[in-house]
Amino acid sequence: MIFDAAEEKAFCPKCRQPLFYVTALPHPKAPQMRKTTFVCYPCNRTWTYSLAAEVAERYAAGSHPDVDTAGP
Ligand SMILES: [Zn+2]
Repeated sequence: MIFDAAEEKAFCPKCRQPLFYVTALPHPKAPQMRKTTFVCYPCNRTWTYSLAAEVAERYAAGSHPDVDTAGP
């Protein structure tokens, strides 16, 4: 996984296109980590990474920038 710290985007290590955030689940062995899933459409596959919770949350927040009025 390639991170762009400035834009907080992740890029596919295979085709280098931007990855799209899908979901983040609690890490079973590390409570402060999240198993964060991204999808690469050009490759038609997902990539899952263990990220710090705060990083995962930033990806989550950035994935739907204009639908934050939809509550649970
Ligand atoms: Zn790809």
